[in-house]
Amino acid sequence: MRARGYLVWTDDFRAASRPKMTEKRQFRAIKGTRDILPPDSALWNWVEQTAREVFETYGFRDIRLPIFEETELFARSIGGESDIVFKEMFSFLESRAIELPQSPSIGRILQLAELVNGAWERGEIPKTARNEAEFGRLSHAHQQLQSGPFVPLAAMTAPNRDGLETAVQLLATILDSAGELGVQTSLRPEATAGSVRAYIEHGMHALPGNVKLYYTGPMFRRERPQKGRYRQFYQIGAEVLGPSDAPAIDAEILEMLLVFFARVGLTKTTLYVNSIGCKACRPKYVELLREELRKVKDQLGPDSQRRIETNALRVLDSKLPHEQPIIETLPRISGHLCPACSEHFSKLKDELKLRNLAYQENWRLVRGLDYYTRTTFEVTAEGLGSQNAVCGGGRYDGLVELLGGQPGVKGIGFAIGTDRAILSIQESGNLPRLPGLAVFVAWMGAKAYPVAVSIARKLRNRGFAVELPPEELKFKKSLGLADKLGARYALIIGEDEAASGTYTLKRLADAEQKKLSETDLLEHLESERRGPHA
Ligand code: ATP
Ligand code: MG
Repeated sequence: MRARGYLVWTDDFRAASRPKMTEKRQFRAIKGTRDILPPDSALWNWVEQTAREVFETYGFRDIRLPIFEETELFARSIGGESDIVFKEMFSFLESRAIELPQSPSIGRILQLAELVNGAWERGEIPKTARNEAEFGRLSHAHQQLQSGPFVPLAAMTAPNRDGLETAVQLLATILDSAGELGVQTSLRPEATAGSVRAYIEHGMHALPGNVKLYYTGPMFRRERPQKGRYRQFYQIGAEVLGPSDAPAIDAEILEMLLVFFARVGLTKTTLYVNSIGCKACRPKYVELLREELRKVKDQLGPDSQRRIETNALRVLDSKLPHEQPIIETLPRISGHLCPACSEHFSKLKDELKLRNLAYQENWRLVRGLDYYTRTTFEVTAEGLGSQNAVCGGGRYDGLVELLGGQPGVKGIGFAIGTDRAILSIQESGNLPRLPGLAVFVAWMGAKAYPVAVSIARKLRNRGFAVELPPEELKFKKSLGLADKLGARYALIIGEDEAASGTYTLKRLADAEQKKLSETDLLEHLESERRGPHA
């Protein structure tokens, strides 16, 4: 939107390109995003609340992270070769280091180049890889402009078309590059990178023991939307960071995960585990795998063919039917783990048995992200079609150091796909009974109204969900609305009740009716809440 057209970039041009806002139109949520409406939102809240409760019993505490971070953080941690970083991130330039001139003239652009030079030398522009490249481009253009044989500065004033065009191009480059300088940011596609960044930034390695964190919130990936796959989706995740990589840590978070799934009624889940080795053993295995893959290259699809060289492990992840028999013949990592990784994996399996956690080994489980080491796992659930993974995770022992933190810090974590977990709960039909509207206050008459206002507040104070109609309704209409809103009780307050200081409480399920004093009413509702139907 900028620079190339700078010669016409005037206030007139801006005004002309401003959209007309007078015509009526309707808006829809952006493709791949969706609204979570009541009553579904209650199920979402319950699922997230259950995760909080379960995770906190395991000593995890909430961390709230920014929704966007430096793009380089993701590129380094997730891996520049991964699809997520390579093509799925929503990125934008945040905090431009240099403000661009409003209507740039040649003189001003050259001044700008000097300005940027100075700012760069004083270290005012973040030295990100991207900024280094942009600055290089800018310096090059600037130098050429000043000394290049093609473009004597005189060409600006003399009617030398070629010289002028080249100069204009160089100036456009300067403007372009200067405009790019700043911090390139992306909406987070996952939250492990942010968690680790925060762990390092706040010196959490100095905290006692292992640091256990959990988070909930939206993630963003520009994927092809389909059932269970969105561009804005939600995760509930947890991370353990610290000096120890004991297999019991891995087993404990898997226990916590399965306890959570059971608690939200997702019982038909399958846990798959694998070990993908470490820096010592994985490269050798990957090389072997690559050699074998090269032999069968022409039988593979284009994605797998490309991955042989860029990310050979990911070929094992392929879902293409015709590749399956070929993949089955490939060498398996289990036979190539170093003694330390092999022992870690077998201790993990012992720990899982100790905890009575059912699992299946899956040697093809390599996970999408580059940073994993040793333990990887995935949980699948029913009712989701081909998007059946509800949780993925694994160990990432080198990530803290890779992101500039304390060497030797180990890490493991997982992320549950909340959207899919909820879809699966809905498909199972095994829905929880969530408390809805408790009391609808059916008041009639001016004398009843103050009583209604007062009792509504008292009930709400005790935690009951109460609906108080803002305008007087006819008796029949009032009860009809109470029913439609799903209230458990209608509290009838007419002139009689108001005069006698009593209430008529009607249970809507069976129309049972009781006349009660205020004290009895409160007691009755409290006991009903504590009872089996709470
Ligand atoms: P998949 O193989 O399904 O693309 P992934 O390996 O990309 O998953 P992770 O990065 O490990 O997934 O994220 C953990 C979980 O987040 C997944 O198991 C899934 O439940 C959920 N998830 C990932 N991407 C999406 C998405 N675009 N929409 C909804 N949920 C998602
Ligand atoms: Mg994915």
